[in-house]
This record gives sequence, C-alpha cells and structure tokens, in this order.
Amino acid sequence: MEEARKLKSVEYVSIEGGEPFLYYPIMVKAIEEAVNLGFHAEILSNCYWATCHKDAVEWLIPIAKVKNVELSLSSDPYHGDNWVTKEVRNAVKAAKNLGIKTEILAVKCPEAEAPCPSRIEGVKVNLWELMYKGRAFSKLTERANKKFWREFTKCPYEDFTKQERVHIDPLGYVHVCQGISIGNAWQKPFSKIIKEFDPYENPILEPLVRGGPVALVERFGLPHDEFYVDACHLCYAARLLLRSKYPEILTPNQMYGETNSNRIRNTA
Ligand code: SF4
Repeated sequence: MEEARKLKSVEYVSIEGGEPFLYYPIMVKAIEEAVNLGFHAEILSNCYWATCHKDAVEWLIPIAKVKNVELSLSSDPYHGDNWVTKEVRNAVKAAKNLGIKTEILAVKCPEAEAPCPSRIEGVKVNLWELMYKGRAFSKLTERANKKFWREFTKCPYEDFTKQERVHIDPLGYVHVCQGISIGNAWQKPFSKIIKEFDPYENPILEPLVRGGPVALVERFGLPHDEFYVDACHLCYAARLLLRSKYPEILTPNQMYGETNSNRIRNTA
C-alpha cells in the first residue's frame, strides 16, 4: 500500500478473496492501514460469517470503527441457494445499524428461475455479467448459448491502455485481468511495475488491445472451436494454450484451475 501511495493515482484499496473474512485480524489491520494511508477501503465478502443479526454486528463493529470503509456483499445463486441469502440479509441489517456504507453485487445467472431482486433490505443490487473464465470456464460453459468465435474482437471489461485497476494476489503477482500478470510485487517494487507497464510491449496484451481475443488466437495461430460463450471464454481458452510459452505472464497456477493438490492427483 505504501508503494501504491507513491503512485499518487490510486484512490481505492479493495480487499477481495476468496473470502477475506477468513483472515479476519489481518483483514481488519489491512483496512486500518489503507485508511491511515489515505485510501478509500472496500471489503468484498460472501457474508458466510453473518449467521444471525447479533453475530453480524459483532463481526462488523471493528470495521465500523475504521472510517471510510465500504462493504460489497455477494448474493446470488452462485453464493447460496437463491438470489438472497439469509447471511446477506443479516449482514446488510447489521451494516445499516452500524452506519457502514454497503452495496450488493450479484452475478447474472441464466439458469435462475426467478429474476434478481433490485434491492435487498433496501440496499441496491448491482447485477454483473457472468464472465466465462476461471471456475466459470470449466463449469458453466457447456449449457450456455454460444456465438461464432470471430465476434469477440474486443475485451469488454478492461482497457489496458488506460488501466484503472489491478489485482494483487497473495503470491505478489500483479494482474491486469485475473491470470495476466505484469510483474511480481515481492520481486520488484509495485510502483515500478506500474510505471513501466506498457501493454504494447506485452505479447499477450498487445493483440488483446489490437483486436481482443480473436487477435490473440490469430497472433499465435492457436487451434480453436467455432463457438464460444463470450470474449472471456475464448480469451481464457487461448491463454491456457499459451501458458507454457509465457509462464511468467500467464500465472499463477491457481488462476488456471491448477492447484498443488490436483497437480499431484493428476500426476498420480
Ligand atoms: S478474460 Fe480476456 S476478454 Fe475477459 S476481461 Fe480478461 S482480458 Fe478481457
């Protein structure tokens, strides 16, 4: 965070997961430091901890004491049995009681029977597109509608020429989209990584900027199917094929569904 402050252009620090409440004392310390350094701080959570209203209040009291912290809570059929989980209701009520600014994030679920509610306990629900990469790539693409691969000529979510956010994982990798690393903050100062970043000099990002996932496939002459669900689906499939060529960029293994345990299982 001190490195981020050096850049003078970073306003928000967002603590995401996995699930950051699993590392509760470290998470609270991190938001305290973020706020002390002058950032707006945000925590993303699935609210597993809000098993009842009283519990939710206890979990949130230390966060309420740190001013300028916002909660983004996930509630949708991927995080529970329905659009609205009991835990999210408890967390929203507790956050309201404690005066913590809260928003709710839901990811579109094409298979849900009921529509997504616009509000939960009076808090607006922001509905996000489902991106077919990572876990969604392996689990959800089979039954989804698909389009001809040549339609995906643009990355719909990131403009790498005006990078507005990066993700830093626990291994230190700095991602411009999850699984596309532009350096490791444990090996090189984060501010230096950002200052030196040039998407046109990056072999994965240059084609993505020029013509989206289609250009990435064409640049390397990659084999491909005829139909994909969305741009991320094609992009992720192409990246899987390029991992051995660019292991320092297309990393870490976890972003590509490869963990130590399943690698050992696969080898066995
Ligand atoms: S997976 Fe590819 S297309 Fe999707 S947001 Fe990331 S870079 Fe863009």
